[in-house]
Amino acid sequence: MISIEEALAIILENVAPAAPRRMALEQCRGRVLGEDVSAREDVPPFTNSAMDGFAVRAEDTAGASPRTPRRLEVLEDLPAGAVTATAVGAGEAIRIMTGAPLPAGADSVVMVENTRGGEGGVEVLRPVRPGENVRRAGESVRRGEPVLAAGTLLRPPEIGMLAALGCSRPAVIPAPSAAIVSTGDELIGIDDALRPGHIRDCNRYSLAAAVERYGGLPVPLSPAGDREGELKTRLEEALSREVVITSGGISAGKYDLVPEIIREMGGEILIRKVKMKPGKPLTFSLVGGTPVFSLPGNPVSVLVSFLQFVRPALLKMQGRKNLELPEVEAALAVECREVTDRTHLVRVRLERGEEGYLATPTGPQGSGILKSLVRADGLMVVPPEAGPLPAGTRVRVRLLDAREG
Ligand code: AMP
Ligand code: MG
Repeated sequence: MISIEEALAIILENVAPAAPRRMALEQCRGRVLGEDVSAREDVPPFTNSAMDGFAVRAEDTAGASPRTPRRLEVLEDLPAGAVTATAVGAGEAIRIMTGAPLPAGADSVVMVENTRGGEGGVEVLRPVRPGENVRRAGESVRRGEPVLAAGTLLRPPEIGMLAALGCSRPAVIPAPSAAIVSTGDELIGIDDALRPGHIRDCNRYSLAAAVERYGGLPVPLSPAGDREGELKTRLEEALSREVVITSGGISAGKYDLVPEIIREMGGEILIRKVKMKPGKPLTFSLVGGTPVFSLPGNPVSVLVSFLQFVRPALLKMQGRKNLELPEVEAALAVECREVTDRTHLVRVRLERGEEGYLATPTGPQGSGILKSLVRADGLMVVPPEAGPLPAGTRVRVRLLDAREG
């Protein structure tokens, strides 16, 4: 049995980022940029007003105050999107809106709040300096300037920047598609009537949601019963995807056939068991170069194993660099009596106390008790043989998605 860290290292050695592909910008949020992007044009493309107000020559406003206003003649209105051939001369102004190009002759903008009147003539109540309230062409980005480097994660600001640069189809690392196969003769669909001995297939849904959460494209296939032919057919179907994720059928039971079938299909099994609770029976293999994650069937084990092993692999395949779940330090709020010879990932709720986070286990930690994961904010890492832990012990907690939005 190998440690979580050893297992993760093996997995990450065997997955690589996909080749970049051009994609419509609308689909690029959360992708990693696959090319360096330089500005092909200035941003902003022309010198324009940063305020609603009056385009003027700064010298005409010298000494202006509410008691000694400077009166200027207003030549015309200039809304955003319009251009004018009219130049501003001495004693003149053009009423200008934010984003409209600064007219010739003007060197500054008096904001409307510092003026009075405005029809035909305007009274300027405060002087402006040359350049005041003006955005120069290229002040945000100069043409030719390198702006975004390959490897950058595209968040909303980067998407906005690419749009501003006119980059409608950037090269990005595409989302890997992940086939999802639940296994087990006992599984029925979530809309089916319950029958004796049967349970609803919840892993198909939780795994699809998890794949989607971390940027992959989930492709749930029909579940497979615990029969060799059916499992083989389903796995073959699944191998047309970039990643395969199965649940169930990998423990010590008579009908746990998945590893054997992977071997028969010519797969190379690289991991068979991990020193972790929940989720000891993890099988990781390569079948024709495709990474196959065979996760345990219990609804908690499957998700904890996903978070520990599939999530970082999916992220690496997308060119991401921060592969580990974020961690915080916390103090145990109550004694934790759990003892195991494996690394125990205990589901905990986190609260902010006076001196940082307090972690409280969310109840019975059975690997089928999904409720305790539903109530959890994180997974507390208890090293092998470390328990029981008294209240107050400093612990590390791997963060799950926040439960409250
Ligand atoms: P297995 O790993 O196949 O022995 O399954 C372990 C436990 O998880 C058994 O109690 C299964 O009934 C349950 N289980 C397996 N697959 C699923 C699934 N897709 N949804 C819900 N429970 C499952
Ligand atoms: Mg099973």
